[in-house]
Amino acid sequence: MSTMTEMSGGPALPQERRVVTSIPGPKSQELMARKQAAVADGIGTVMPVFAKRAGGGVLEDVDGNSFIDFGSGIAVTGVGNSAEAVVRRATAQLADFTHTCVMVTPYEPYVEVCEELARLTPGDYSKKSALFNSGAEAVENAVKIARTYTRRQAIVVFDHGYHGRTNLTMALTSKNMPYKHGFGPFAPEIYRVPVAYPYRWLTGAENCAEEAAAQAIDQISKQVGAENVAAILIEPVLGEGGFIEPAKGFLPRIAQFAKDNGIVFVADEIQSGFCRTGQWFACEDEGIVPDLITTAKGIAGGMPLAAVTGRAEIMDAAHVGGLGGTYGGNPVACAAALGAIETMRELDLASRAKRIEEVMKPRLRKLADQYDVIGDVRGRGAMLAIELVKPGGKEPDPQVTAALAKACHQDGLLVLTTGTYGNVMRFLPPLVIDENLLNEGLDVLEGALAGL
Ligand SMILES: *Cc1c(COP(=O)(O)O)cnc(C)c1O
Repeated sequence: MSTMTEMSGGPALPQERRVVTSIPGPKSQELMARKQAAVADGIGTVMPVFAKRAGGGVLEDVDGNSFIDFGSGIAVTGVGNSAEAVVRRATAQLADFTHTCVMVTPYEPYVEVCEELARLTPGDYSKKSALFNSGAEAVENAVKIARTYTRRQAIVVFDHGYHGRTNLTMALTSKNMPYKHGFGPFAPEIYRVPVAYPYRWLTGAENCAEEAAAQAIDQISKQVGAENVAAILIEPVLGEGGFIEPAKGFLPRIAQFAKDNGIVFVADEIQSGFCRTGQWFACEDEGIVPDLITTAKGIAGGMPLAAVTGRAEIMDAAHVGGLGGTYGGNPVACAAALGAIETMRELDLASRAKRIEEVMKPRLRKLADQYDVIGDVRGRGAMLAIELVKPGGKEPDPQVTAALAKACHQDGLLVLTTGTYGNVMRFLPPLVIDENLLNEGLDVLEGALAGL
């Protein structure tokens, strides 16, 4: 669709894959040398090219290569990079004022974003929101709010869960390397219980939801005590843990347990939210109504913004001045969010996510039939993944996953890997991507698999 190029803020960006140098090209290599000298090694690089422009379904590098974007900057630019409404609204806000601090002098865009969040998130109860800069900060604040509301301390999280890189959210996160290793000690009163991971459930996918819920509830009841639990925190589709969709029935059981025991049920929709999975929010697929929901990534078309939204009586539990931060809910980021939400609504990007699944999933399934290294195909909407294993079993194969990603990069397709075992290739295209680019991206993946 040619509209994709018109949607980007800058000069029209050709919606095409174009590899004109070896990857990385000479200019990227030069910049990489400067990065290595000036930037801390802890900041890693997935694909060693430097970005110049991006929009629609492509990312162009400094050497003139154009990559099909199956990453969206980690599920952020669902509306595309520099989406027209994001640029228009953020630019106008930049010219008016850049910052007052909402705690000093409030401004309308902050309130408007909170009003939109009340409309868009699941639940027809009275809602309020608070805005922050990053997903981790939103999760931290959800914990603060749940603790002060319940006057309890324990927080329950799940195997394979990911919630951020700050001290509290590292404690909430499951995976040691690279997120936690060497960075302890971690915050106390965090308890991790099993999640219903169908592909790896030992007694089989059919029993997974029931057994995992029973185990989780038993552990919470016996090891923590339900009456001590402030919040149960879960991603409705687990992101960094490997795009795990908890077996159907698991989430409703856990949500019901929370409700029965006065525990705040928090859905971390930072990666799965804002149309990514084919609904505004992934928990809608099983009719889950969380007490609190954390959002970030897709909310503002690439500008840093995050939110906690939920039941007004819970959100209001924190005393005046107890929540906030200098930059949280920055006016330019809020204006961008309003532009992103406008775009999602006008282009019905939830339906576009479903269409992306319709195009991609059958082709991924066919590849799984053809190539034994693909053990599982899963996800929904435009949050899809393949899990790569040693043929003949389910032993994770992170080496082949890395090799496959590298081959895709060399051939002009930006893909990301993930997963507790480092063996999941995930697909997060911008929701506005052209369908022919989507298919061409899959052709590249197919060629890379053939060349392994
Ligand atoms: C990315 C992510 C976070 C952390 O967000 P940041 O903006 O990187 O701090 C938290 N939870 C989930 C589910 C995420 O995917």
